[in-house]
Amino acid sequence: MKSYSITHRLIITVLLVELLSAISLSGVAMLYERHVRFRSFDIMLRGRADSLLGAVQDAEDTQDNVMLDGTEKNLPTEDIYQVQDASGRVLGHSPNWIGPDPGLLTVKTGRFLRLSVNGAHYRALRIEGLRIVDPGDKGGGIPRRVSIFYGAPVDRVWKDIWKAVGFYAITSLSLLAVSGMLIFWLLNRGLAPLRELAAEAAGVSVDSWNFVPPQRARMIRELAPLTGALETVLTGLEHSFVQQRRFVGDAAHELKTAVAVVKSSLQLLTLRQRTALEYERGIERCQMDCERMEDAVAKMLTLARVETNIELPLSRFATDLSETLGQVSQQFESMAELKHLRILVSTPGPVMVNVEPEQLQLLCSNLLLNALQHSPAGSAIRAVVRQVGSAAELDIEDDGDGIAPQDLPHVFDRFYRGDPSRSRNTGGTGLGLAICKAIVSRWQGTIEIASGLGIGTRVMVRFPASGDRLQLPLR
Ligand code: ATP
Ligand code: MG
Repeated sequence: MKSYSITHRLIITVLLVELLSAISLSGVAMLYERHVRFRSFDIMLRGRADSLLGAVQDAEDTQDNVMLDGTEKNLPTEDIYQVQDASGRVLGHSPNWIGPDPGLLTVKTGRFLRLSVNGAHYRALRIEGLRIVDPGDKGGGIPRRVSIFYGAPVDRVWKDIWKAVGFYAITSLSLLAVSGMLIFWLLNRGLAPLRELAAEAAGVSVDSWNFVPPQRARMIRELAPLTGALETVLTGLEHSFVQQRRFVGDAAHELKTAVAVVKSSLQLLTLRQRTALEYERGIERCQMDCERMEDAVAKMLTLARVETNIELPLSRFATDLSETLGQVSQQFESMAELKHLRILVSTPGPVMVNVEPEQLQLLCSNLLLNALQHSPAGSAIRAVVRQVGSAAELDIEDDGDGIAPQDLPHVFDRFYRGDPSRSRNTGGTGLGLAICKAIVSRWQGTIEIASGLGIGTRVMVRFPASGDRLQLPLR
């Protein structure tokens, strides 16, 4: 699709509307002017025909005829006329009379008609009138019926009409030009906040996420949704970008450390001649370090997968939380036995949640594993599933060493390990709870942790009822 300018489109639209108005106005003006000017022209025409009637005099001849008194006529020379008496005798006509045309003289009385005389346009009318001659006689004079055909050129009238229309048209076009420029200026001014907003948005980059909508853009109601959307999107993007960047940095650091450990173990091993047993132990240590590295990479991939899936089309899952917890706790049974721990599972029967089965399993096992790793021998871990209204809850509680208050706000951060010395024992990468958080968020649940040093730890997960959700929001 071709790019276009809103300003130009608006200006063209407004100018077109104005041009149409100007044309309509000129048309209406033309009709009005024609009506008014021809009305007065007709009155003038009638007046001149009447004055011609006044020039009909007694001829004072033996046949008692009438005649047209040439001295009493004071008419424009370009006008045409002819006067006839009742018997059809021509009493007189203008010097430029077009000649005997019976058609003209049979025109109905009082009717106007158009005709062309020597290439000029005329408007004419025919009237019949009574002329009283010899008014001094007894009885008030003799009435004589006279028929007058009178015409005058209309070119002048049309000239005046077109002059008036021209005036209206030029005035409208001038207004059009002025208003066009005014609209252009106003639109340019009106769109300035949009340009400022675009410039501000263009300044956003991966190194500078600072986006402050210009004050003028904030004040415009139409721009508010765009400004709001930009702010929300950029804040989300910044958050996600910073998170990803940190993750990559942390992951690189973790892997570098792990590789450095393997490398130093190997260096130590090759420093001098070793016994077969020393080599064996050294290789075993390297193997363990590699396994730990493999575990860390697997967890990173899991985390990336959980977070990537968030934007995939959603397929609905209905997984039994009670059953999943039961299966996972069984898997940990031998480990618990080895550590002299008990896992007490309490479930009220099937509790369905909209979570992918593998992810629900991973959630349960990460939480149970943490509890197992941090619980003292002989203690019990309580894992409870509850149905609260339409929501499902999972509580995993231990009587372990707990988490220090300064660590508690960070335990869901990636690669965060509360106590590095202990983590080394457990072989933790600090990704377990971050994965739990990602899974829970992905399925619109919540996860909270309560802990105190020496008291133990309780992790509470809550999922909305199965079937409540049709769509998951983007982060
Ligand atoms: P990973 O789970 O990746 O193997 P991890 O267990 O160290 O490693 P998380 O599960 O994310 O990582 O836990 C983060 C930190 O929170 C742990 O290092 C630990 O200090 C603390 N923590 C988590 N659960 C418990 C718990 N039940 N009791 C005491 N501390 C805990
Ligand atoms: Mg863990």
